[in-house]
Amino acid sequence: MGRAVGIDLGTTNSCMAVAEGGEIVVIPSGEGQRVMPSVVAFTAKGERLVGLVAKRQAITNPRNTIWSIKRLMGRHFEEVSEERMNVSYEVRDNEKGDAVVRVFDRDYTPPEISAMILQRLKSRAEEFLGEPVTEAVITVPAYFNEVQREATKAAGRIAGFEVRRVLNEPTAAALAFMEPTERKRLAVYDLGGGTFDISILQVVNGVFEVMATSGNTHLGGDDFDARIVEWIISEFKREHGLDLSSDPVALQRIREAAERAKCELSTVLEAGINLPFIASDEEGPKHLEMSLTRGLLESLIEDLVKLTREPSEKALNDASVRPEEIDHVLLVGGSTRMPFVRKMVEDIFHQKPAHSVNPDEVVGIGAAVEASVLTGQRKDLVLLDVTPLTLGVETLGGVMAPIVERNTPIPIKRSRMFTSAVDNQQVVSIHVLQGERELAEGNRSLGRFELVGIPPAKRGAPRIEVSFEIDSNGLLSVSAKDAITGRLQSMRVNPSGGLSEDEIHRLMKEAEANAEIDKARMRLVESRNAADQAIYDAQRVLEAAKKHLEKESWEELDTALVSLRMTRDTTDRVRIAKETSRTSELVTQVSRLIEVLDSGSIGASEEQDQLYVLEDSPEEPHEL
Ligand code: AMP
Repeated sequence: MGRAVGIDLGTTNSCMAVAEGGEIVVIPSGEGQRVMPSVVAFTAKGERLVGLVAKRQAITNPRNTIWSIKRLMGRHFEEVSEERMNVSYEVRDNEKGDAVVRVFDRDYTPPEISAMILQRLKSRAEEFLGEPVTEAVITVPAYFNEVQREATKAAGRIAGFEVRRVLNEPTAAALAFMEPTERKRLAVYDLGGGTFDISILQVVNGVFEVMATSGNTHLGGDDFDARIVEWIISEFKREHGLDLSSDPVALQRIREAAERAKCELSTVLEAGINLPFIASDEEGPKHLEMSLTRGLLESLIEDLVKLTREPSEKALNDASVRPEEIDHVLLVGGSTRMPFVRKMVEDIFHQKPAHSVNPDEVVGIGAAVEASVLTGQRKDLVLLDVTPLTLGVETLGGVMAPIVERNTPIPIKRSRMFTSAVDNQQVVSIHVLQGERELAEGNRSLGRFELVGIPPAKRGAPRIEVSFEIDSNGLLSVSAKDAITGRLQSMRVNPSGGLSEDEIHRLMKEAEANAEIDKARMRLVESRNAADQAIYDAQRVLEAAKKHLEKESWEELDTALVSLRMTRDTTDRVRIAKETSRTSELVTQVSRLIEVLDSGSIGASEEQDQLYVLEDSPEEPHEL
């Protein structure tokens, strides 16, 4: 069996890890970073960019750069539009009412966009490991419902992965943090870009048991950014009378500056926000210059951070654990770097959170631990997860009848008997619901199906057994059986988060075709990176050479540099590589000449001039 990778498919960044020789290794992204921005962009030239390259061009291409796609996974357009996602690309509904993204006259479903991110990670893993990688464990917020989990799984399949498990993020974090031999209770407080999750876990003799989970699927650092953006726009309007909110390019610049300031304020007390030429009016260009203090930031987001308290207390309650009985509080997600968030955590759990984990990597690492368990590399762990939300069916009067309560350990199969509501009822409609509300309409509808051919009988006489089966990925199948005739109807809940099997197959083919294009694109990006490095080196060396050497020594390098600068922006990868290597050679040659001079008297610096070391004296050098 091949190796399986663990993937934390994050709202803002994604992180991937794998077990290698008993250790878990984070696989760096192609750009040399340990996480990859979960960003996909489409350019006017028809190119598709993923990761850092996509993020970097977001300012100049805001309408076609897709970020935070995770917030749209498996969601209805209606729910999303109520939320004011604050994104610069177009979100609309398709004929099924699902939220989709529109770019250059084409609709993309959220699983398709996520698949592009996963596909990039897959090819990166293959490069890194030097072998095909076809299996993965992908993490999701514990609070994701069935449809969102299915959508994530579909994304994995489109990208060419066999998804071995859809794993809850907090569970993954605990797997990365705990030794299986420990006996501990753990709280995982996960506040990322778009979601908040809280889980209470217990580890006993290598068995990880999730005791309770709760959270808020629409709360995270993006919301903090939005508050800062609102503040910047209103301050600017007050000062200059101009409304920046209708200019998408300005808005994207402000959004990035807001996030940067927020991150800086995790370590400093005041951050500058400077955006020159942000707008102009008849008086000329306007520059945005502001300063945001940590105190003001905290007052802007206080109510949002406080929203994490209620789910945390609910999870503690559900697990019947007092804060003092928690051994460690683990922080996950970029937003937990904020001192204000840490203070809230301390308030809730009456203790300081653990410091030894990297909140950006711990989930990816845990996913890789689970991948190594599933592929048989590791045998000392077992994972017992729970279902995050109550599952049931709608009954008479629009009331939800629970069948599997939230926080029930999975996998599980549970049944409940139902009967008819009127005399001679021959058809029953099974409406599957997920959520904590008593009335069906307050919960998420996961689908409906009908059981037909029930023999005519008095109301209350038929016996219809409805069974819910949840597998270890948290995915649900429902069946209804008439006890008299033995007739059975069943459904897999929205098997692919809104995508049909045919659609998935079509998208898998499309993704495969695009993989080649993506690889070519990546090679071009790598060549350009190498060119940038050579340009940088050449500039530095030329500066020194022009001071100390004759023109004929550096002229050729100067010409090579001018040419490389122009070639760098073309798509001719071979030429870029050739000119890069020629420039690098010349850089080495000219550097040698400078070194030679340096070792003689002409090029030596003044400080060196003052020291003269006697060749054969082992003692202190004499000063002249
Ligand atoms: P995640 O979804 O875990 O990748 O978290 C991403 C979120 O964390 C984004 O909203 C980031 O702006 C935020 N973030 C990352 N680093 C920091 C930091 N140093 N201080 C505050 N927020 C941060």
